[in-house]
Amino acid sequence: MAELIDGKTRAAAVRERVAHDARTLLDASGVRPGLTVVIVGEDPASQVYVRNKGRMAEAAGFVSDTHRLPADVPEAELLAIIDKLNADDAVHGILVQLPLPDHIDDRTVINRIDPDKDVDGFHTINVGRLSLGLEGFVPCTPLGCLDLLKHSGAPLAGQHAVIVGRSNIVGKPMAALLLAEHCTVTVAHSRTRDLDALCRQADILVAAVGRPGLVKGDWVKEGATVIDVGINRIPAGEGKTRLVGDVDFEAAAQRAAAITPVPGGVGPMTIACLLSNTLKAARRAVRRASQG
Ligand code: NDP
Repeated sequence: MAELIDGKTRAAAVRERVAHDARTLLDASGVRPGLTVVIVGEDPASQVYVRNKGRMAEAAGFVSDTHRLPADVPEAELLAIIDKLNADDAVHGILVQLPLPDHIDDRTVINRIDPDKDVDGFHTINVGRLSLGLEGFVPCTPLGCLDLLKHSGAPLAGQHAVIVGRSNIVGKPMAALLLAEHCTVTVAHSRTRDLDALCRQADILVAAVGRPGLVKGDWVKEGATVIDVGINRIPAGEGKTRLVGDVDFEAAAQRAAAITPVPGGVGPMTIACLLSNTLKAARRAVRRASQG
């Protein structure tokens, strides 16, 4: 039976470390890390997520602010708000909650954020930095996955990592991170042939698809480490629902050496890594200011 990779406990430890380092920064410089989230529209899942971000940022000793804009806000108005936040020295991290309504172009908005405040790591410049192996901001979910992998003690160098999913927010940055850790990386997607056979070759298997239970137990190699990024809400009878991942957890746990559960695996790491990125942005701003 696989060892459980406990993201809830690990995320709490990361948040504790961030809170400690934020206090140190405050004592040394008088600066509190500032995180501003911009949310457009009323998507209930996004609202919950943004509330959690705010709560945890405050618990870490950050200044946390949220701009809530109506779903029909003109793009120009949103861009003007980002310009203001870019110019505000008390704001170290800016996060625009995705998805945005159809009349707003995600890429235009994300690329308006100062790359040094882009704590989500989605700006074209930060994507480029990651792919070139340069210092920058890395998207929070893959950063959390890498932290869990490292913390689980799984060897990385020379291992075959198979990532199922090639999105810009998870699959692609995950591939860049694991390549930088000297894994041999294969990225699979909806057009990949013989996905099951490919997954069976994986020493490290990352599933980031959004299809409940897509990865079957017998797709998992004996002794592999499995990171399940998927968050899928499925019916659980009597009008109730429950969250499951992209991996058939029970069956996969019979073969894997270690596996993340859903919920309680990758999920809690995303906000912890967001706080960590924001602290990094604040420290860099303090350093830049002290260098004049
Ligand atoms: P996207 O929908 O953007 O990407 C899904 C990827 O899976 C695509 O590359 C797609 O291929 C691929 N795919 C779809 N169907 C199949 C299939 N049958 N076989 C192989 N590949 C397939 O999703 P995200 O990356 O944004 O999210 C993935 C999952 O992770 C979701 O469940 C999401 O909720 C969760 N998530 C969790 C987070 C967290 O823990 N905090 C944060 C972000 C996401 P193609 O490119 O060919 O279409």
